[in-house]
Amino acid sequence: MTSISRPEIVELLKLRGKEQREFHKRASAIRKDNITDKVYLRGLIEFSNICANDCLYCGIRKSNINIRRYGLSPDEILASADEAAEAGLTSILLQSGERRDRDFTSHLSYSLKLIKHKHPRMNITLSVGEQERGIYEEFYEQGATRYLLRIETSSESHYRKLHPEPMSFSRRVQCLNDLRDIGFQVGTGVMVNSPYQTLANLADDILFFTTLDIDMCGMGPYIPHSDTPLSGIEYLSEESLNLGLNMIAVLRTVMPDINIASTTALETLSPGGRELGLLAGANVIMPQFSPFASRTDYALYDNKPQGVRECRDFVNSVKERIEELGLVPATEDPGISMHFLRRVKDDSSR
Ligand code: SF4
Repeated sequence: MTSISRPEIVELLKLRGKEQREFHKRASAIRKDNITDKVYLRGLIEFSNICANDCLYCGIRKSNINIRRYGLSPDEILASADEAAEAGLTSILLQSGERRDRDFTSHLSYSLKLIKHKHPRMNITLSVGEQERGIYEEFYEQGATRYLLRIETSSESHYRKLHPEPMSFSRRVQCLNDLRDIGFQVGTGVMVNSPYQTLANLADDILFFTTLDIDMCGMGPYIPHSDTPLSGIEYLSEESLNLGLNMIAVLRTVMPDINIASTTALETLSPGGRELGLLAGANVIMPQFSPFASRTDYALYDNKPQGVRECRDFVNSVKERIEELGLVPATEDPGISMHFLRRVKDDSSR
């Protein structure tokens, strides 16, 4: 891990034009030196948009009555995992709104069991929010080994402006610690350029990631959703894109061996945005494997891309685009975080 100060990060986040491109090139070279030029593909399965929370920026918040709610059955989730396996992927991400009721958690545990029974080599990442520690343990026992829980901001006062009671910053941090204790590869992330956020907040987010010693990161540039309380706040999409890319490059510089996703939100802000994320140092892309009919309903923000109907075609086109950038698409490589492998080795030699 490279040490860096808050003012140094702020200066890097401000870079634009030629200096920005050169910075991204340096970050890309750091990726190559530390974790090769491989880009890992994770099949994204958004299996339910039902959420018990009311985050003020999110299109699927429970108070939004303007969307159709859906939830895939375990067999439907398995069918999406089958498609990912048929496309040659060995890694999937199961994502949904947050629910802690037993119906939901049992349904997910059963889905994990079905997937691991049929595809024992499939690596499963979960992103289903805050859960009790015992439930995280249950998911781990059923074969999920990676967990993504975005903190969205590392500033508790900023968190309060984006999340109503009873959501709690400290509870979220506790969940991240529980996940790490259990043995998951742990990922988190923040929204970039969200309302009320400062560059100093973003710099602190980077420092927070280093303190937590994360294995993976997914940072989405903030994009408003018209049916949310924060939608009327002034928003500059170009600023979101530039800051989103610079955050990737700073994080790659500071944590050279973690997995960093180039998110769909970058693509929404600019066609080819996902490739720009890779050029700034990211090494993970997540092609859509949710059933086509449900994709428009997983509307976290306005104009979220739906991908193409045929997942296999989409994977092939993503692979071609990765090769055009001079990088290596690594579909069959499960893409375990190198940082995770090193920290587990360090822990066991103590
Ligand atoms: S951000 Fe996540 S937890 Fe918050 S409302 Fe949206 S889906 Fe639910």
